[in-house]
Amino acid sequence: MQTIGLLGGMSWESSALYYQLINEEVNRRLGRLHSARCLLYSVDFEEIEQIQASGSWKKAGERLGEAAAALERGGADFIVLCTNTMHKVAGTIESYINIPVLHIAEATIREIHRQHLSRVGLLGTKYTMEEMFYTEGLQAGGLEVTLPDPEARTEINRIIFDELCHGTIRPESKSYLLRVMDQLKKAGAEGVILGCTELGMLVTPEDTDLPVIDTTRIHALEAVNEALSH
Ligand code: GLU
Repeated sequence: MQTIGLLGGMSWESSALYYQLINEEVNRRLGRLHSARCLLYSVDFEEIEQIQASGSWKKAGERLGEAAAALERGGADFIVLCTNTMHKVAGTIESYINIPVLHIAEATIREIHRQHLSRVGLLGTKYTMEEMFYTEGLQAGGLEVTLPDPEARTEINRIIFDELCHGTIRPESKSYLLRVMDQLKKAGAEGVILGCTELGMLVTPEDTDLPVIDTTRIHALEAVNEALSH
């Protein structure tokens, strides 16, 4: 089994989900007392969020690149960056290390193809929804992407940072998100990507008849595939 290098803390709420999902899956597959061999480098998210808000993506890439290098020195065989948003700087992170980064959008595209979907809605932070790094990747993977309207994008971003990253689950926010998902369906989406690692805390596949593509779950399971394939 390879050692998974989790680069998390963005937020720690979703990193905890990664840790749980990865260990559960390793144990489901290997049985007995097996659990995942992994390292976690958890950043102070306040620092990262301030860097995001100021638009200093170069600095964010350097900070996370140094963290990834520490994981490599600690023995990680590959990196799992536990956030969609910070994949904006995946290239910079890669330049700091000699081990691969298991890209969240690539794993997600493979899963969407497996489900034979081609038109998908995308929910995430305003950075993930509005800056081209994420949607371009999905489009290059042959997918057509539908976004919520600008007002909904602002509200979803608020729910992520003001509620979910603090571990707060509000029924009214869940209803709101389900309404947005319904609008995306009406606009032609065949499934919706939860393109933020905290969104699975609020909505699950049981809440809607629309296929829910949860990037946290997909990424965590892909990490297990990778770790166990060696
Ligand atoms: N975890 C979130 C994501 O998947 C948002 C936090 C961040 O800005 O990194 O995008």
